Amino acid sequence: ETHSEHPAPHPGTEVSFEFFPPKTDRAEETLLQTADELARLRPHFMTMTYGAGGTTRDRSISAAASLARRTDVPIAGHLTCVGASRQDVDNVARQYLSAGIRHIVALRGDPPVPGTPFEPHPEGYRNAAELVAGLTRIAPFDISVAAYPEVHPEARNAQSDLDNLKAKLDAGATRAITQFFFDPDVFLRFRDKAAAHGITAEIVPGILPVSGIAQAYKFAAMCGAHIPDTVRNLFDGLDDHPETRSLVTTAFAAMMCRRLQNHGVRSFHFYTLNRPAQSAALCRLLGHKNGTVL
Ligand code: FAD
Repeated sequence: ETHSEHPAPHPGTEVSFEFFPPKTDRAEETLLQTADELARLRPHFMTMTYGAGGTTRDRSISAAASLARRTDVPIAGHLTCVGASRQDVDNVARQYLSAGIRHIVALRGDPPVPGTPFEPHPEGYRNAAELVAGLTRIAPFDISVAAYPEVHPEARNAQSDLDNLKAKLDAGATRAITQFFFDPDVFLRFRDKAAAHGITAEIVPGILPVSGIAQAYKFAAMCGAHIPDTVRNLFDGLDDHPETRSLVTTAFAAMMCRRLQNHGVRSFHFYTLNRPAQSAALCRLLGHKNGTVL
């Protein structure tokens, strides 16, 4: 590592933002305000999750469509193939197209009962790679897929998980966006392993600016992300100090992003949790402001 963790931000840095569909009128207002504020940063794209966390799929499609109407930033709709026929999934892709959405984040999705084995729909796509291939037959979508620096929990091993990532990219995806992580070295090692595996597409780190260790544990339990002791120590004793906790969160995420940037990472995907402030602050620190370099 060089002596400076704060050289001039790199001019080529690109960012993207992920939202989830709102469940109430109030949540919708928050989302739209957040999207407006973050759209001003001229992100590469903004995405809307699909059917995750108990939200309905219709809500995802209409939320993605309303963002697409509201902004000229390209919107990506997430799309999963779990529990649906190929025809139904293809129809959602066509709905995205008619809403002006040409970028899809293609995913398998999780079984409806957590912890039970994934069962493909009898007439469905069996995994994300098949979904990607199906989408390319519908239209020339820009397609992103998921990658797992700490290995997907159902994968036989790290090698087969990389085989699967390569299969998704070979099937027609342009880039991979990673599950979140709390240790930048985890990402950097994964990027090296992917390159050694013949993966040439861009791997974009997914950055989750969680506001405290309790929330981090909750998210980490959902996806198996390792929480290093350094992170535990950072938040230790801050349970009753939300303001300090939130400052520490942003500072920690900023250090992580800067370290990735110093190692050549040029694209960042932020899991915004539909809130603008932390993602906007991190973008500025990365040198990204209104599409110009600070
Ligand atoms: P796949 O790539 O199909 O892989 C699933 C598992 O099967 C892996 O273990 C893989 O190694 C294995 N596998 C696949 N094909 C084969 C094969 N031929 N042989 C052997 N093994 C194989 N979920 C939602 O419900 N909605 C969302 O909007 C959403 N957005 C997400 C966004 C990102 C950036 C990420 C990282 C995840 C998101 N998820 C979302 C979660 C995702 O649906 C789950 O992680 C799901 O368990 C796996 O999806 P996948 O697309 O990675 O599956």
